[in-house]
Amino acid sequence: MARRFTGSFTQQEPLPADAIAAAVAVLQSGRLHRYNLVSGEPGEVAQLEAEYRDWQGSAYCLAVTSGGQALQIALRACGVRPGDGVLTNAFTLAPVPGAISAVGGNAVLVEIDETLRLDLDALEARIASSGARVLLLSHMRGHLCDMDRLMRLCDGAGVTVIEDCAHTMGARWNKTRSGNFGKVACFSTQTYKHMNSGEGGFLTTDDAAIAAQATILSGSYMMYARHGAGPAPEAFVDARYDMPNCSARMDALRAAILRPQLAQLDGNVERWNLRYRAVEAGLKTHSRITTIPLPKEELHVGSSIQFRLPGFSADQCRALMDAAKARGVELKWFGAAEPVGFTSAHPSWRYVATQDLPQTDRILATLFDMRLPLSFSEADCTLIADLIRDAVDEVAP
Ligand SMILES: *Cc1c(COP(=O)(O)O)cnc(C)c1O
Repeated sequence: MARRFTGSFTQQEPLPADAIAAAVAVLQSGRLHRYNLVSGEPGEVAQLEAEYRDWQGSAYCLAVTSGGQALQIALRACGVRPGDGVLTNAFTLAPVPGAISAVGGNAVLVEIDETLRLDLDALEARIASSGARVLLLSHMRGHLCDMDRLMRLCDGAGVTVIEDCAHTMGARWNKTRSGNFGKVACFSTQTYKHMNSGEGGFLTTDDAAIAAQATILSGSYMMYARHGAGPAPEAFVDARYDMPNCSARMDALRAAILRPQLAQLDGNVERWNLRYRAVEAGLKTHSRITTIPLPKEELHVGSSIQFRLPGFSADQCRALMDAAKARGVELKWFGAAEPVGFTSAHPSWRYVATQDLPQTDRILATLFDMRLPLSFSEADCTLIADLIRDAVDEVAP
C-alpha cells in the first residue's frame, strides 16, 4: 500500500508549561481538597469557577468531577424525580442516557435528522406524546440545532432545557455561546474534550436556586461560601436541607491545570477549525461522501468530524473501517451492531426502554466519525482526507 498515516487519534497535546508548574505548586502545598484553604487563599477551584463563569458569560459556575456528574446534578436540580420522562437525542453518547438512568428518569429518545441534529418536528411530537417536561439536549459532535426555534418550542411547551455542551465548549449559535440558551449547561474537561484535566466538568446557570441546589448536590459540606462563582447565601436557605450530598467536587490539582488551558481555549477553537476545514475540504471532493452541513449561524468547534456514505451496505461500512485502518486512519462507525470503544448506539443501552427510531437508525447505519486532536498538523489532516477517499474507492470502485 502506498500511503499510510502514522499519528495517533487519541494523542492530545502536552499540557502547557504553566499548567504543569501550577500542578506542582498544588502538590507541594498538600492542599488538594477544594475547601482545604489557608486564611485569605481563594483556592484554585474557586478561581477557576470565577474565570469559567466570566468566559462563558453565565451568572454562576460550579466545578465538578465529570461531565456526567454535571448532567446528573443538573437533572436533579431541575426537578427530575424517579419515574419522570426526560427527552433526549437518540444519537448521543452513553453518559447522556446514563445520567438520566442514574437519577431514576426514563429516557424518551427523539429522532435526529440527516445533519445529526435533533429533528425539531419529532421533538414537538414527542413533547406532546410523552408529557415529559425536561429536555437533556446533547449538542452531539458540536452540531447545534436551530437554537432560536428549539427554545421557542420548549418555552412554549413548558419544557426545561438542559444543554449537554460536552462537544460545544466554545461554540456559538448567532453569537450566543452554547450553554447560554437553556436553564443549565453541562461541560466536560475529560481528556478527549476541549480542555484536559483527565476527568472533570462544569455546570453553569443564571438561576440562583438551581446553582445553590447544584452546589449542595456536588457535596459542599456547607462550605458553599468558599465557592468562586456561586449565588448569595440566601439562595441556600432550603437547598442546604433539601439536597443530598452526592460528592462530585473538583479538586485543586485539576483546577490548577485547567486555568492556564482556559486562557488558550479560544485560540484552540481556531486551531481545531483549521484542521476540520482541511479534512472537510478533502472529503467534499468525493462524490460518494456526504459531509455534515454547518449552518452559517453556528460557530462550530471542529474537534471531530463526521461524514455519511448513503447507499453503503453494512458490509461495505465494515470494509471501509478495515480499509481506513490499513491506512492508519481510525474511524468510528455508529452503525455497528456491537458497542466499540467510546461508540454505542441506542439499541446497546439496555437500561433504556426499547424505542422505535427508524429515521435515526437509517442515518446511523452509514455514519462515520473521527477525532481531530490538536496534535495533528493541517498537512496530516489533508493526508487523512486523501486516505479516506482512497479507502472509499477501494470499497466501492
Ligand atoms: C464526554 C461526554 C459527556 C460526559 O463527560 P464525562 O466527563 O466523560 O462524564 C457527556 N455527553 C457527551 C455527549 C459526551 O461525549
